Amino acid sequence: MMMVLAAAFVARAEAEFNAASPSELNALRKGGAPMKVMTYNIRYSAGDRNSADNNWEARRDDLGNLVESANPDVAGFQEVLPDQRKWLEARFPGYAFVGDGRNADRVNGEASPIAFRKDRFEPVKSGTFWLSETPDEPGSKSWKAAFPRICSYAVLKDKATGKTFAFANTHTDHRSEEAREKGMLLVIERMKEFSGGAPVVFVGDHNCLEYEKPAQAVAKILKDAMYLSETPPEGSWRTFNYWSYKEKEQTIAEALAKPVRERSTSGGKSDSKRIDYIYVSPGTRVLGYRTIAATRPGTNLYPSDHFPSVAEVVIGATPAEPYFVEAPGSAKLVFDTSNAPDLRKWTEDKFAPTICKWVVKLTDIMASDGWEPPKEILFQFVVEPLKSAVNAPAWASSGDRKVSLRVDWFRENLDGEALGCTIHELTHIMQAYWSKGQNKDNCPDWAVEGYADYIRWVLFEPEADGCGYVRNDIKKYHYNDSYRVTAHFFGFVESRYPGTMKKLNAALRDHTFDNGKFWQETTGKSAEDLEAGWKAAIWYNIRQ
Ligand SMILES: [Zn+2]
Repeated sequence: MMMVLAAAFVARAEAEFNAASPSELNALRKGGAPMKVMTYNIRYSAGDRNSADNNWEARRDDLGNLVESANPDVAGFQEVLPDQRKWLEARFPGYAFVGDGRNADRVNGEASPIAFRKDRFEPVKSGTFWLSETPDEPGSKSWKAAFPRICSYAVLKDKATGKTFAFANTHTDHRSEEAREKGMLLVIERMKEFSGGAPVVFVGDHNCLEYEKPAQAVAKILKDAMYLSETPPEGSWRTFNYWSYKEKEQTIAEALAKPVRERSTSGGKSDSKRIDYIYVSPGTRVLGYRTIAATRPGTNLYPSDHFPSVAEVVIGATPAEPYFVEAPGSAKLVFDTSNAPDLRKWTEDKFAPTICKWVVKLTDIMASDGWEPPKEILFQFVVEPLKSAVNAPAWASSGDRKVSLRVDWFRENLDGEALGCTIHELTHIMQAYWSKGQNKDNCPDWAVEGYADYIRWVLFEPEADGCGYVRNDIKKYHYNDSYRVTAHFFGFVESRYPGTMKKLNAALRDHTFDNGKFWQETTGKSAEDLEAGWKAAIWYNIRQ
């Protein structure tokens, strides 16, 4: 989606944003639940007085039109001087504005005001405090900050949903990393207090890159809305444009294909900085996310030296806490859906009950001498932005007893392979084969993966016929081809020699498996003989 030069940029920006929304979004919108939240550093008016191109009077109408087109329900602006505040209030009469200037007189200096729709929200509480050791002392600064830095906030009751939430807006110090980190943690702490634990939307120009300490500290508590977005986030990656026009902006999708440091720093100072954020509390759904790199009509100029970012969110859509169930006589199962609130319902209705049933079954099926089944297993949905880093839809870490599930893959496969995939990974947790260290001789990969796929395709979902392709072209396969081929072979062996799979699991777990001896000792035949029998059986069935 590229940035718009046309005179009709206002309409385009809005049309593109709406185009990103799924039909589900429209359904929800009818219920009045989602709201658009925005962050926008509008560049202080005193900064560009001598610039014919970028001075406030020249750009403000276009900026106002852009904001209007994005149509936020709540917006946090930064670098707003009193003259700009006055102009914004006149331009947007449907919004109430709150927030003071950062100087000791509370009037002057840059402000970070919040604008919210008067017809939709009822203010419960609002104010401004300083990011310092004495937050209630106007004009105060700490932690080597270059300027006094503030947070303006509003606790709002959404008339559409009856839900209350806190919206906080800040512009952290550009010089001191300590001030950025401590300032933002102070904001989060105070929001928790002021909102009585209600969900939080925390926006602003945070002057830091996503892998730097302050952003990392915030991301431990709140969620970056861009990563939560249920539709691919759209628009420009950089939010700070340095007044430097680009024919083609790097899109969020392009940036996310690069490693985190590269996407954050490549191209030099003006090229790739994403420093403006929208954070939300866990449990918030994000239906869409966009950074709007629109130019001013008929020019190569931007309305500000930052781009606005907008997220469409549903506050308090799901519980913030992980879902958990105790499998009878087996493990406690914890499901962390904080990176995928939209998968919460599927987790509660289908995923958790299935795992609950199968962890009990596998505790029995996979028992072996001296083996202790896990007491707790964590299933965690993860956002894996760098596609090349991990190609698998899910992966198990048996040491941590944790299964990671890729949000994007699961969203697309709920009615397909999703459940079966989790059974395969659950099997790995139960196998715990590597607790004695990697051993490729006595615990070969083909047997480990073949066994996990045997549990999945032969026992869990035989009706899916996931190994069917093996039958159709049996000549080219071997018993140790791993995954489904080996699973099919294991299914054959178990049907002819019941109990073999229990012994195989025990041998792999104890690292006593010897491919040259195991099959002979358990079935009286070598692996090669068994393979011949397996192929003959399939061939015979096919011929019939
Ligand atoms: Zn596997």
